[in-house]
Amino acid sequence: MIVFDEVAKRYAGGYTALAGVSCEIRHGELVVLSGHSGAGKSTLLKLIAVIERPSAGRVLINGEDVSRLPRSAIPYLRRNLGLVLQESRLLFDRNVFDNVMLPLVITGHPPRDAGRRVAAALERVGLEGRGKELPAGLSGGEQQRVAIARAIVNRPSILIADEPTAHLDPAYAADIADLFRSFNEAGVTVLVTTHDGALFAASRPRRLVLAGGLLIEDTRPDGRPAQE
Ligand code: ADP
Ligand code: ADP
Repeated sequence: MIVFDEVAKRYAGGYTALAGVSCEIRHGELVVLSGHSGAGKSTLLKLIAVIERPSAGRVLINGEDVSRLPRSAIPYLRRNLGLVLQESRLLFDRNVFDNVMLPLVITGHPPRDAGRRVAAALERVGLEGRGKELPAGLSGGEQQRVAIARAIVNRPSILIADEPTAHLDPAYAADIADLFRSFNEAGVTVLVTTHDGALFAASRPRRLVLAGGLLIEDTRPDGRPAQE
């Protein structure tokens, strides 16, 4: 469970990116976060991953206040988070297999099992047998799949993606949306931002909408407000 409790974020320079945001995301939910550019979507995701810290309020993951986590505990937290952020670029001088292997190398995973997991993750995103290729030779949609494989290779229980379909043709974007739905159906809590409200409609997600740093909408899949 992820809880935002009266969270505010002011960046240096005084700009308020989030103000008084409260919501609860339960285990196994598929949540689509939308809002215009600058609304605070990326900031909200970065607070979960402790890439940024809130200026006020608390962010709890499974009951733990991660906003106050000591820096040394952050890698441990991130093992359970799959992140596909705007700045999570692929390494273009390494092949697909090595890109997906990277998180397992960082966490000191035993090599033989790591190789098996990378193969399973590539299969999961429809890139089986493509490990030896270089990212530059892949389409935009395929590169995004590599980034998603890298995010799930640690088998995280929470998957967070910031505009994963932003630069893709509609057909590729729909495939990527299906992929997130399939992870969610396997039990993963999925939180994804998008400009395209229609994209995830078939998955009947919970919808959060930010505007100017305020959470202005929180709608359950049945169309009713999520607030208890
Ligand atoms: P979105 O993802 O919805 O486009 P962001 O969370 O990226 O919104 O940004 C929210 C606001 O915070 C924007 O006005 C942006 O310019 C500002 N902002 C984001 N990151 C920083 C930063 N590192 N320093 C200062 N301002 C920032
Ligand atoms: P294996 O058990 O051989 O790893 P699976 O078919 O169970 O194969 O999973 C294939 C890959 O898909 C996993 O390595 C993982 O990257 C991803 N995956 C499957 N289920 C989950 C899940 N519940 N949470 C996160 N990732 C998952």
